[in-house]
Amino acid sequence: MTWEERWHPLRQEWVIVAAHRQNRPWKGSTIVEGGSALPRYVPDCYLCPGNLRVSGRRNASFTGVFVFDNDHPSVGPEAPLELSPPPGIYRARPARGLSRVVCYSPHHDLTLAELDILEVETLLREWQAQYRELGSHADIAHVLVFENKGEVVGVSNPHPHGQIYATNFVFRTIEVEVLASRQHLAESGSVLFADIIAAEQADGRRILSENETAIAFVPYFARYAYETFVAPKRSVASLADLDARELRDFALVLKDVLQRFDNLWQMSFPYVMVLHQAPTDGADYSAFHFHVEFHPPLRKPNLLKFLAGPEIGGGCFLSDTSPEEKAAELRAAAGPHYKSVAR
Ligand SMILES: [Zn+2]
Ligand SMILES: [Zn+2]
Repeated sequence: MTWEERWHPLRQEWVIVAAHRQNRPWKGSTIVEGGSALPRYVPDCYLCPGNLRVSGRRNASFTGVFVFDNDHPSVGPEAPLELSPPPGIYRARPARGLSRVVCYSPHHDLTLAELDILEVETLLREWQAQYRELGSHADIAHVLVFENKGEVVGVSNPHPHGQIYATNFVFRTIEVEVLASRQHLAESGSVLFADIIAAEQADGRRILSENETAIAFVPYFARYAYETFVAPKRSVASLADLDARELRDFALVLKDVLQRFDNLWQMSFPYVMVLHQAPTDGADYSAFHFHVEFHPPLRKPNLLKFLAGPEIGGGCFLSDTSPEEKAAELRAAAGPHYKSVAR
């Protein structure tokens, strides 16, 4: 039984771990993620190679990774510049920036977890290039690379893809992590995330995958069941700072984690994946340590973690699961990918 409060050093907030409640009676909605086999190519999929998109633009006949400007951008160069002035203390400004879609593969029926290691590396190199290119724009302060996976997080098209929001401001979570990291460096002389890795290695129970230069673990302060961080061991500000060998190591650990997710319940595992990279506004980010965060929305194969009073209303998480137990389940779900075994 775990029933305690744990400090989240990157967000500087408490997480209530109340794992003793996990088996309380439940009559809420259950989730079933699509299990039916998909075709390799779908004629009316807006992400498959050669297809026409709603904008009238046609996808290239791509064979690897394919990037295009989002046809329904959240931030974009066409956002209105003339805004009506808000009343009183309120502020507004144009939603400028760039929104892009990144197709991971031409194959409609695959997921990131099923790509081979060279394909994962190719994707990582594309993310590096996008971060460098978008980050070099004078009016872009931050590049948010992410993937929403699964119908339960609102994704209706299973074609493997992620998104990029390059914005004129820094997203709040990154801003908070930057402040926490700078404060920690000033007070202790060390990089916060490096100290987190050291604490995880000293404990060992929550480490899922590790090689010479990369590591993955369920953090001690996990807010979601199966929440997982993937990071290089060297403190670098972004993915773009990894050399070829570190990139390979990172790809191996990332793929290992993704296979464990799918193997856990023998189903395509839904998640929100976000690359936490330093802002690109030219300030000093030597205290920041690049990492990828996975936030899985399910606690069990068909049980959604609802965000409610504590999370939405109070801004702090109540975790119904013990990070040690969830890590143990993932540690036992090693690859290869269950689909490749079944074939
Ligand atoms: Zn497709
Ligand atoms: Zn983070």
